[in-house]
Amino acid sequence: MDLGVDIEHPPPTNDLIIDSNGPLDPAAQRSIQAALSLAINVAQDSCADTPLLHLLRSSLSSSLSDQHLLHLASQLIHSLDAPLGIPVENFHDARRFHWEKPLQGSDAVVKGGYATLLNAVWDDAVRTGKVSVLHEHTCVSVSTKDPVKCIVSTQRGQLESKVVVCTAPLATLPSIQFQPPLPQHKQEAITDTKTGLLEKLIFTYSERWWSGDANPSFTLLPTTNSQHTPKEILLSHVLNVQTFSHPSLLIYLPPGAIRALAMYSKQDVQRAGAEVLAERLPRVAGVAHAASTPLAAHLTTWKKDSTSNGATTTYTTPQQLHALQAPSTDGRLGFAGEHTEIHNHGSVNGAVMSGFREAHRVSEYLSRRASE
Ligand SMILES: Cc1cc2nc3c(=O)[nH]c(=O)nc-3n(C[C@H](O)[C@H](O)[C@H](O)COP(=O)(O)OP(=O)(O)OC[C@H]3O[C@@H](n4cnc5c(N)ncnc54)[C@H](O)[C@@H]3O)c2cc1C
Repeated sequence: MDLGVDIEHPPPTNDLIIDSNGPLDPAAQRSIQAALSLAINVAQDSCADTPLLHLLRSSLSSSLSDQHLLHLASQLIHSLDAPLGIPVENFHDARRFHWEKPLQGSDAVVKGGYATLLNAVWDDAVRTGKVSVLHEHTCVSVSTKDPVKCIVSTQRGQLESKVVVCTAPLATLPSIQFQPPLPQHKQEAITDTKTGLLEKLIFTYSERWWSGDANPSFTLLPTTNSQHTPKEILLSHVLNVQTFSHPSLLIYLPPGAIRALAMYSKQDVQRAGAEVLAERLPRVAGVAHAASTPLAAHLTTWKKDSTSNGATTTYTTPQQLHALQAPSTDGRLGFAGEHTEIHNHGSVNGAVMSGFREAHRVSEYLSRRASE
């Protein structure tokens, strides 16, 4: 389907790992990155009910004899916290780590921002004349008790249909009352499947003031154990920092930092983030110091947003995702969203694929019913 939206494939990034003394020596960086990649492969192939951290550490110990490199590599393990959405030490069963089939295709960035794509999808659907979009209608209950019609109650009224596909994210499903109640195994999957924590802290600047090659990314290793201020909280975690073609920097906040920062104001966190970047990233020679003062900052708050309550599914199993995907009430109540796609959960493509899957299923269901 061509929605007329332009995308660009970001060029490969060159990561620079920075410890308390500045950027690592390239040979040291290569050694610890190679050792961690190997450790991740070992953990991925492991069939043991063992904590992930234990597997990663023991693999690092066998491949790195230099104690300083081993220390740095052990710190680098926590660069996985942000993408996993939970701290590695909470990954108690390594069998839940990276069991998914790898994604086919490649990442791309939507020109004009992600909203451009969403608007194009809406416009395309609305143009068919078969779709109406109701904004600010929070669903509070779904009843499929009647043998023919489904009733969706929102805070603004009721809607009736032959079939319902519920696309509310996993962490908001408990706020919706289903009548009759969902099957026990589905309720358990909703309660037991974890939603990860991930937030973004974004800064824009008047010009690029950090050095590195054309498209660098940075991994900041911890420099303190103390967590008395927002700045110390950031400095005590591994921070993955992304750069762009425009002068902006993005810190992926790991779950441990998000929890510890929750008691501080947005402004305090943004100020601390800007200071950490200004102090720790290598600078382009000759660029004024003031350039590292951001023009604007933004901190996402998906955890506090009642329409998401966090990021996406993590630390999950195929069985849980199958239970989350399964339609109920003879197929009249379906479920879509990233949390219902087995191998692509936690991603936009998973959410899109789940939409196609449910559209196909509902279409077959309605044809079958029409012919009865
Ligand atoms: C920080 C971060 C970075 C990410 N980066 C990437 C990335 O680079 N690439 C990638 O592929 N994926 C990424 N993801 C994951 C991706 O954003 C999600 O997997 C995807 O958006 C999930 O889509 P969804 O439709 O399942 O849920 P959502 O996008 O959460 O949509 C659910 C909708 O339901 C609405 N809703 C909630 N409750 C109710 C209710 N009771 N009644 C009515 N409506 C309700 C919400 O308002 C929302 O509009 C990232 C996620 C995060 C948090």
